[in-house]
Amino acid sequence: MVQMVHEIYIHPRPLGDPMHRKDIMVYLYNPRKRFFHVVVELRDEGALPSLFSSLSQMGLSVMNAFTSPDGGRNRICSLFAEARDDRVTASQLKGILDSWPQVIRSWARESKSGFLVEAAHFPLALNTGQRVVVLGQRRLSNIFHRLTSRLGGEAANILYEEGFSLGKNSAEVFIYYMVGERFVRENLEDILMVYSATGWGRPELVKTDVASGEYIILIRDCFECEGLKTGRPQSHFVRGHLCGLLSTISRRPLSCVETKCLAAGHEHCEFHLSQAEAGRETSRL
Ligand SMILES: [Zn+2]
Repeated sequence: MVQMVHEIYIHPRPLGDPMHRKDIMVYLYNPRKRFFHVVVELRDEGALPSLFSSLSQMGLSVMNAFTSPDGGRNRICSLFAEARDDRVTASQLKGILDSWPQVIRSWARESKSGFLVEAAHFPLALNTGQRVVVLGQRRLSNIFHRLTSRLGGEAANILYEEGFSLGKNSAEVFIYYMVGERFVRENLEDILMVYSATGWGRPELVKTDVASGEYIILIRDCFECEGLKTGRPQSHFVRGHLCGLLSTISRRPLSCVETKCLAAGHEHCEFHLSQAEAGRETSRL
């Protein structure tokens, strides 16, 4: 069995749930297996099927792959593969790939004692170009929790404000630089799916009333709360993000209350947003 980063947690998926895990390759380890990381620069994306087929003929089973354009017609393909036997080495593999007319250049690394770290790509970035870093969900929620439990409400307020600022910024990008205000208001469920795309949680829009500024949003597997048992709502950052996002979309100050929370023993986190009271424009603690 391939062992992955120890903080990976596999969610039990309800039947009918279409979501599948998105793996970010970091390292592989299994002392009884051989792994390869191959990066190939192709002249044309039409060569991709031949690449996969050839690797299979060389005794490699592709485990994970992604492709990206290099700005022109060329296409970069990066993949991890497991060797089904001992036939091929990394240098042989590179030699074979470089001899292909469709290949501009290639790069191949082989595991040592069954251990292989991804060493070909930096930085990590969203497809928008924004740099991101990877930190285990449990570690991040523990940091947030320790800050709020040791420093109290002021730490929770900082998390809330950072979330609010990011949510406001996201809404402004969608409204002013991308799809426009009307689209955002009419397709709020699509906008909220950014939460699952970035691994924050699985959102569900339960109620929306743009005219009155009332929303109910449920988030399953919220990254801020999963694994915590504090007995009280713990989603300060996400609560702020939702408030910043929806206040901007609604063009009015809203308040946001987390009425259910994984950390308090509920099945999911749930957020109720409504028009903020006059003079109290945020939901700081
Ligand atoms: Zn929560």
